[in-house]
Amino acid sequence: MAGEAQDDCLFCKIVAGQIPATIVRETETTVAFRDINPQAPTHILVIPKAHHQDAAALAAEAPQLAADVLRETQAVADDEKLESYRTVFNTGSGAGQTVWHAHAHVLGGRGLEWPPG
Ligand code: AMP
Ligand code: ZN
Repeated sequence: MAGEAQDDCLFCKIVAGQIPATIVRETETTVAFRDINPQAPTHILVIPKAHHQDAAALAAEAPQLAADVLRETQAVADDEKLESYRTVFNTGSGAGQTVWHAHAHVLGGRGLEWPPG
């Protein structure tokens, strides 16, 4: 069922504390932790604690939770003192999604080119 923890999901395991992560923020509904393979000086992932497979599913199945995730991206940027930053949701393998639990990348701390590759 939408939102239920998945046994084979890496990010559900991070939420459950079964896999270590450098957690920088936590709310009742979200967790933010440093990406293990950072692409910028600040590279933090914000995830809903509940399992939704991607941003589209999250917005459709739990719009309030999608708003919580977005609000937390701003909180992360504030904590990191980022004036400019990029929020990315890779949706689908063709766009580079590799973990099938919705997550926002918050990237900053260096100049970011546009368009992205
Ligand atoms: P995506 O490619 O958009 O699905 O993003 C998945 C992200 O998760 C990648 O940037 C990975 O570096 C990151 N990642 C994978 N495993 C871990 C982990 N154990 N802890 C933190 N970040 C991870
Ligand atoms: Zn999950």
